[in-house]
Amino acid sequence: MNSYFADMHIHIGRDMYNKPVKITGAKSLTLTNILKESSRNKGINLIGVIDCHAPAVQQEIKELILRNKAHELADGGIRFEEVTLLLGSEIEIYDENCKGPIHVLCYFPKIEYIEYFSEWLTTKMKNITLSSQRYYGTAKELQYKVKELDGIFIPAHVFTPFKSLYGKGVYRSLEEVFDPDLIDAIELGLSSDTEMADQIEELHHYTFVTNSDAHSLAKIGREYQEIKIDHPSFEEFYWALHCVKGREIKRNFGMNPRLGKYHTTVCNHCLTPLSPKSEKCPKCGSTKIIKGVSDRILELSNRKESKRFRPPYMYQVPLEYLPSLGPKTFQKLLDRFQTEMNVIHHVSLEELIEVIPEKLAKSIIAMRKGELEVEAGGGGKYGSVSTKSKK
Ligand SMILES: [Zn+2]
Ligand SMILES: [Zn+2]
Repeated sequence: MNSYFADMHIHIGRDMYNKPVKITGAKSLTLTNILKESSRNKGINLIGVIDCHAPAVQQEIKELILRNKAHELADGGIRFEEVTLLLGSEIEIYDENCKGPIHVLCYFPKIEYIEYFSEWLTTKMKNITLSSQRYYGTAKELQYKVKELDGIFIPAHVFTPFKSLYGKGVYRSLEEVFDPDLIDAIELGLSSDTEMADQIEELHHYTFVTNSDAHSLAKIGREYQEIKIDHPSFEEFYWALHCVKGREIKRNFGMNPRLGKYHTTVCNHCLTPLSPKSEKCPKCGSTKIIKGVSDRILELSNRKESKRFRPPYMYQVPLEYLPSLGPKTFQKLLDRFQTEMNVIHHVSLEELIEVIPEKLAKSIIAMRKGELEVEAGGGGKYGSVSTKSKK
């Protein structure tokens, strides 16, 4: 069995005709660029691109295959250089039983299957050429369709204040919306970690995944996991989620939840930190309060520790978050050590010092050990990292 890095939530900014897919996504975030960036610079071996329901994206994949740049794997997924692509789709559910929009992630083993899925989506969605569009139907109906097509179903960033299962405070349990048996894993999102999520007992049944939700090439690998599988493919990933035949998630890597932009409760207007019970901001008088993820989890909490074994959750930030690591230094690191994963996980302090100042090299090592100082984020503002190590 081998170890691979996986980031399963990456958007597409533009299709091969330069038309927007994720409107807020970067123009350079095309399918081909995502594959190259993941394989050559990031060192990520398994990626989920969750805008593959768009027909022009499917066309781009098929052209790569026609030109012998990529090929479809027998056990699912598309191989390109050092990376395997899983064909995914992020959907916004909003049915009449639904009290707020919820994002979910679906993945399919073959192009043929996601093409079929797209065709079905045209009857449920106004515009399938765009990302994360609203789906008119029930969540369970969507789960049945995904399972009929041998797909994987994962509720996305389940605690973010907007567009998530627990976020808005309308649901207390996933059973209000989903068939719990047809959920393959739970995506944590940037403002929570394993320990926080395990305070909710119904989540103990599921594997947790940590993904970047990247809207630009640089953000790929902002969160990811290390998985123990034989080789990167759809079937192996499915086995890892269900801990079959020794496959499993070995470690989750994510930002310290305190760095996430929705960690604490704040005033929506002036971002003053508030207690979760406040109804009005004492500083500016606004009544728009964004409840932080940590306060929301405390409300839902009904359990202290997990009933199941959990892999370690390692706090990390992308290299670009480190103060004093500018684009030039970053390029120097890539020139010497090839990929960001190598720099973050494998290169020794001594080797780093040959390329970059010692202070910066030390903060990379401190990050590897989860020892970087952070300041909490909230209300849509990210927290920040200091170069000081905690020790
Ligand atoms: Zn989303
Ligand atoms: Zn997304």
